[in-house]
Amino acid sequence: MEAARWTWRLSAYDERVHAFPSDERASLIEAVCTHTVPYAKAPRTHSGPRCVSCLLIVGDVLTAVDNPGDKSR
Ligand SMILES: [Zn+2]
Repeated sequence: MEAARWTWRLSAYDERVHAFPSDERASLIEAVCTHTVPYAKAPRTHSGPRCVSCLLIVGDVLTAVDNPGDKSR
């Protein structure tokens, strides 16, 4: 995955805040954890329990972006 930007949205399906690609404009959008929800049922928010899978995936990508030369791990 490239250095994308995410929008955190609250899914009305499982009531968790997932990370969706910021440029997602389809009627059915897919979070980075592959959870899908209709665009209209996923308002932007940072409040609510966050999806742990999305947190881990986004955190992993951000770490890779922030430390491109870090091969010591
Ligand atoms: Zn998720």
